[in-house]
Amino acid sequence: MNLKLNSSIGYIKGVGEKYSRTLKKHNLLTVFDLLLNFPAFYIDFNNIDNNIEINKKKVYKSKIRRVKLTRNFKKRLSTLKVDANIYTKNKLNSKLQQKCYDIQIVIFNKPYLFDLLKKNENVYFFGNIENSNGYLQVKNPMIFNTIENGNVMPVYTKISTIKSGFLRKIFKNIFESLDDNFENLPEQIVSKYSFRNIVETLKNIHFPEIYDENSFYNNKKRFIYEEFLFFQIELQFVRRYFKKNIRINNYTINNKLRESIKQRLQFHLTSDQIKVYEEVVNDLKSTHTMQRLLQGDVGSGKTIVSFLTLLIAKINGFQGAFLVPTEILANQHFLNAKAFFKNIEIEIITGSIPNKKKTEIKERLKKGEIDIIFGTHSILNESIEFKNLSMIIIDEQQRFGVSQRAALFYKGKSVDLLVTTATPIPRTMLLTLYNDLKVSKIINKPKGRKPIITKIVETEKRDSFYRWLKTKIEKGEKTYIVLPLIEKSDFFSQLHSIEEDSEYFKEIFKPFQIGIISGKTSNIEKTRTLNKFINSDIKILVSTTVIEVGINVKDATIIVIENADRYGLSQLHQLRGRVGRSNFQSYCYIIPSQQITENGEKRLEIISSTNDGFNIAEMDLRMRGGGMISGFEQSGYLDFKVADTKRDYEILKLAKIDAEQILKNPSLQNNYITNNISSLKEKIKKINFS
Ligand code: ADP
Ligand code: MG
Repeated sequence: MNLKLNSSIGYIKGVGEKYSRTLKKHNLLTVFDLLLNFPAFYIDFNNIDNNIEINKKKVYKSKIRRVKLTRNFKKRLSTLKVDANIYTKNKLNSKLQQKCYDIQIVIFNKPYLFDLLKKNENVYFFGNIENSNGYLQVKNPMIFNTIENGNVMPVYTKISTIKSGFLRKIFKNIFESLDDNFENLPEQIVSKYSFRNIVETLKNIHFPEIYDENSFYNNKKRFIYEEFLFFQIELQFVRRYFKKNIRINNYTINNKLRESIKQRLQFHLTSDQIKVYEEVVNDLKSTHTMQRLLQGDVGSGKTIVSFLTLLIAKINGFQGAFLVPTEILANQHFLNAKAFFKNIEIEIITGSIPNKKKTEIKERLKKGEIDIIFGTHSILNESIEFKNLSMIIIDEQQRFGVSQRAALFYKGKSVDLLVTTATPIPRTMLLTLYNDLKVSKIINKPKGRKPIITKIVETEKRDSFYRWLKTKIEKGEKTYIVLPLIEKSDFFSQLHSIEEDSEYFKEIFKPFQIGIISGKTSNIEKTRTLNKFINSDIKILVSTTVIEVGINVKDATIIVIENADRYGLSQLHQLRGRVGRSNFQSYCYIIPSQQITENGEKRLEIISSTNDGFNIAEMDLRMRGGGMISGFEQSGYLDFKVADTKRDYEILKLAKIDAEQILKNPSLQNNYITNNISSLKEKIKKINFS
């Protein structure tokens, strides 16, 4: 049977029921969805130069001299040691010289390779050669004894438990039976940019005959453009209707409100906070609904402005909603809100709330018995009804995806909207992505804050650094330790993981307890651990970057970031922003990877020399990539699949202009676009624009 791009993944040869389920969980439903999951990198067997480069991941060809397997059955460990030769050819005085190097390949826990690796045969491996006391050694490389997958091998990021090798097999199977001439772009566009046929382009991305960075990006461009174009068409189409979004909910700013604010405030607002509050009040008095973006660096005090905005709605008899990207953040805001909104009915809805309670909350929301609801964006998707919702706050909006942003539009029955973000978005980008939003800024932080001191710890001094850190804990300080991975990874053997290091930390910080939070921790457990950290029952919190957004533990004064060179500047700044949230002096300790790229080094220099988020965002725009791991940095300002609003900004601009043309001129629309537009119309019909 021939596969089509829109065939369900269940029809792909080799994808059983189990993997089908996994893929669906990741929102990969069709062959096309799956094919947009591009290789993380390629191993190029065409160009093996065999020049030994220490501490750089590359592919080598070697000849096996000896293979030795040792097993420790008790510990269930096996070590395979392969002694091999690498022959290099160097041009010396225009004569070709051959040189032979001895190398030891060490492979743990893959005893079955013993039978496959034979003396005097060639073996290819992809890994880091290290200099171990004068001997060349490579640990746990990827091993190939034939080049079975063509000369350029794509390597994929794992999708849950589905490994690269298996994905490669699936993709092979797809291309064997994929036969489709589907084209989603209008003819004029295809010829304007000389895009090739979709299937052909995808095939070149997954299985290129030869590899070079440029042609990879050129092939990708088509899909980047596509993603932007369809996003822009929807955005611009829907926006036309929102221009009509006339205010129906009216607010008065009276003494009752002023009194209520005065009673609830625990501190004096900064002048920037007051300015933003006034801008909000002005919007709420205008004839159109508020659509405002609040930008303020990490720790600048955006939450209180959001709370005041919600209070205006409540005092005027309306309901409000506070949306956040993660459940831990929802819980944290809810905790603070309980103190601030005393005597006001507030509730929280998240995935961890039992169904019975959820049903009860929904009913009370519908009846108007709850004034303000906190929760993740599922509040928007779920069938939650309000009696008279008038105010929506979206906190830390840079983490919301494209579809959530669209969902918001549809929820907008003349509601007022305040979106907050710590990621400063350059003005030009704002116009392209969100030209419907007005912008407020908080520039100065609350008085008395001391700049965070950032220091780089030499990688070799890691142990003694942690021993020293323990003495700080003994003196009463609280620290975050951030690691990049949950599980150990063969690809990224340099990167620390929770799996690998938690024992180490337990040992080094004895008798202190450590808390652990990762993406794998259940939400209930996350909140429990975080609360222990807040209450100082735990003083060391080891986590992945799940803590990066918005978490506010005032008296945490130290953050340690491992493999810091691998993060983008903005992400480092977000992570660092977990400390320095009170008047205590705070510190950020950065531990680089053993091997660090030039760009990685530059990023660390920048982050340790400035605390200014706006500055950092500028630099981030200019120097992305270079040693960063794909998927590590959120891509630009919205979650696109293949596009990156920062890297691909030029393409975004083109897509924006093209979308305008296409919407204006129906003769440019193909069936695919016409269908999309009519389903948008259907959705919009359901909204009541009065
Ligand atoms: P962010 O802008 O990162 O969301 P938060 O709103 O969480 O920052 O504020 C960070 C910390 O600063 C909080 O603990 C908050 O209580 C405190 N804070 C906010 N505004 C003020 C102020 N005007 N004076 C003193 N502390 C403040
Ligand atoms: Mg915040």
